[in-house]
Parts: sequence; structure tokens; C-alpha cells
Amino acid sequence: MSFESLGLRAELLRAVSEKGYSMPTPIQQQAIPLILEGSDIMGGAQTGTGKTAGFTLPLLQRLMAADKPEKGRRAIRALVLTPTRELAAQVAESVQTYGRYLPLKSTVVFGGVSINPQKMKLIKGVDILIATPGRLLDHVGQNSVDLSKIDILVLDEADRMLDMGFIRDIRKVLALLPKQKQTLLFSATFSEEIKQLANNLLKSPALIEVAQRNTASEHVTQVVHPVDKNRKRELLSYLIGSNNWRQVLVFTRTKHIANRLSEQLTTDGIMAAAIHGNKSQGARTKALADFKSGKVRVLVATDIAARGLDINQLPHVVNFELPNVAEDYVHRIGRTGRAGNEGEAMSLVCVDELRLLKDIERLIKRNIPKVVIGDFEPDPSIKAEPINKGRSSKLGNANRGSRNKTTQQPPPPHASRSGRAKRNTGQNQQRGR
Ligand code: AMP
Repeated sequence: MSFESLGLRAELLRAVSEKGYSMPTPIQQQAIPLILEGSDIMGGAQTGTGKTAGFTLPLLQRLMAADKPEKGRRAIRALVLTPTRELAAQVAESVQTYGRYLPLKSTVVFGGVSINPQKMKLIKGVDILIATPGRLLDHVGQNSVDLSKIDILVLDEADRMLDMGFIRDIRKVLALLPKQKQTLLFSATFSEEIKQLANNLLKSPALIEVAQRNTASEHVTQVVHPVDKNRKRELLSYLIGSNNWRQVLVFTRTKHIANRLSEQLTTDGIMAAAIHGNKSQGARTKALADFKSGKVRVLVATDIAARGLDINQLPHVVNFELPNVAEDYVHRIGRTGRAGNEGEAMSLVCVDELRLLKDIERLIKRNIPKVVIGDFEPDPSIKAEPINKGRSSKLGNANRGSRNKTTQQPPPPHASRSGRAKRNTGQNQQRGR
């Protein structure tokens, strides 16, 4: 199937072809015709499936086809809500890219940066607004947005938005929108809460599902390298150096470890940067830009900071530490092997983490091959110690020198989703506003 056969207009086809896409991805094949028809959509798709173009292309086309509001300032006719600033910025970039040959204007608003430049852009008038919920409500409070003319609403990564505690903000936004509109809801998972939101919001939605929940992509080769905890950094430097990896995304459990690891790698001569919730928006944007441009070879990230990151054709993902919640493993490795490209996901696993590994293997319903690298074989005399579950820097510090002092227990075999929601809530103000 070609993009032409989906019924997209010439300006969009030109932009898509300049982007180098030859064929629509499965979600695009399903979503584009339905959205063009005006259907509401409930899309089960993770990042990496091409869902952004899947909703952006038909959204642009529908805005072009719709009657323009009367003369005067442009009205915001499409609103895209995303859970994180990074995702908002990426969606905004896609809207710009795909809409480059159309006379539509868009802008993005998210927290962590000054509100005034955003207000100036809004005052000039835009057709499409991409926003995180918290900052959008700040604008509502300051009368810098009018949401009464919205024709199309997109909720991107709806499950993340709920996980991060945005449900009240979302409800407040929904109350400001016209009843008559097209709504597109995308979510990687369908919890009861999501279904409830969808029931209230969507009118006879078309259901689209492309990647099964908690299924790791076929395009990602997964491997576990068993190693002692205190040799992980050395092994990581060795893997990067000996394989000459140019672009590696590395995950840690805590902000503290992310910082420390990026400093140590840089000391080893491997340019690295850390990205996590304690970094200013400017620092995060810079780290991501440097990573994308190749200036920084290794980006060390915590789970929340990495959510929704879209880095084209990212070849390698390393789990420096396994996540406490098995589902996060699937999200982490979903950063590679995107849109048909091959990717590699390596996990450096010490004896403390064997239980987490079992949870992950149970979730993805397969055993991950274990490969010991050179002389990094784990010392069998080292006994497992409890894993510190905290994500805050305070708990991260406890990881550093006082292993014996920690009294926390390893997570239960199936760490609950409510546990995840609780942990995330603490960070949500930083993320959305
Ligand atoms: P997304 O799931 O929207 O985050 O997209 C994942 C990646 O796939 C992005 O880097 C897109 O640029 C890329 N992509 C989207 N559509 C296509 C396509 N039809 N062919 C190849 N790559 C695509």
C-alpha cells in the first residue's frame, strides 16, 4: 500500500516523500482513512509505530478541508495533548514537517520554560496547538487560549497521562472544548481507567490496534550480559568502545546514578549526557539535541525522562540497571527497532536483579539469551542484596556507599501498576507544567 492510495493531498505526499517514507506503517494504513472520514479513534499503539504521522497527516488534511472560521485571528481548531514536554516538542516538530507545504500554523506549549513567548505566539493565532495539560491550563488561567473552536482533539499516550496523574487536568481541559468534535485517543495500554475515559469521550470509535500490549518489537534483538554491579560501568565503556557504538541510550533507575554514570563515561573519554526530571528544560532539550546531532554519544536517562523520546533509528539501548516495573522494560527497549529498523537492547544484570529479570521474562513470555562478555563473568561468591526501589536522588545516594544499610525489600514478582502510579505522581508537576 502506498501513501498515495490513502487519499492524502499532494502537499502532504510531498512532505512525506521528502521525509523518506516509502510505505505507510500498519497504524498509518489503518488510521489515516478512518480519520479522514471523520471517525473517532481508539488507537492501541506505542511510540515507534509511526502513530504521530498516523494522526498528524489526516489531521492536517481535515483542517485544510474544513470551512475556515470567519475573518480575523486564526482560531485553534486542533489540540494535541501529550504527557511530556519532550513528546510535545516532537509532535510539534512532526506537525511542522508534514505541514510544511500547507498554510496552517501551529505552536507548542509546555512547562519549564517562560510562558510569555508562548503567549506571543498564541496571540498571533494558530490552527494547531500541541500542549502538555498543566501548561495548557496555565494559559487558560491567563486567557491566552480559546479552546471553544476545537474541531479535532488528540490525546497522545493517554495511559502515560493518567499514570502521571493528569486526569484532573485533562477533565478540566475537556470541559472547555466543544461537544461536537473528532477525538483521537492513543494509548499503549487499555486499563479500566482508559476505557472509562474513552467511553465518556469517544463517539462510536473505530478501534485500531497494531502492537500487542507488552510485546517487545520483533525488530529488537535482546540480550542479557551478566556482570557484577561494581563492574557495570567498566563493561559499558568496553561495549561502547569495542563495538564503536556512536549513539547509545542508557537507562538507569535513579537520577543520581544517571548523573554519576554520565560523568564517569565522559571521564572515560566517551561523551555522555544525562536526562532526568531534575534537569531544567533547557538542559534536557540541549542533551537531546546534542545526542541527536551526534555531539553526545551516550544519553543516560531515567524511565520517565525517556518516555516518548523519538530518536530516529536509534540502534542501541542499554539497561544499565533493570527497571523495577517489568512493563518499563518494554517501553525502554521500544526506543530502538522503530518503524522497521533493526535495534539491539542489552541489559547489564547483576545478581541483585535476577528477580527483576524473571519478572520481565514472564511479562514478555520469552527467555532473553544470557551472554557473558570476556572476563566480566560475575563472581559467584557475591550474594544478592535488596534493590533500592527509590527514584529520588536521596534514595539513589543510598545506593552509592551504604548497600548494607538499606532495609528495603526487592519488589514483589509483579510490581503493581498502582505502585508505578504512586512513584510517578511525585514527578508529574515537573513534567506537565
Ligand atoms: P512514532 O511512533 O510516531 O514516534 O514514529 C516512530 C518513528 O518512525 C519516527 O522516527 C518516524 O519518523 C518514523 N516513521 C513514521 N512513519 C514512517 C514511515 N511510513 N516509514 C518510515 N518511518 C516512519
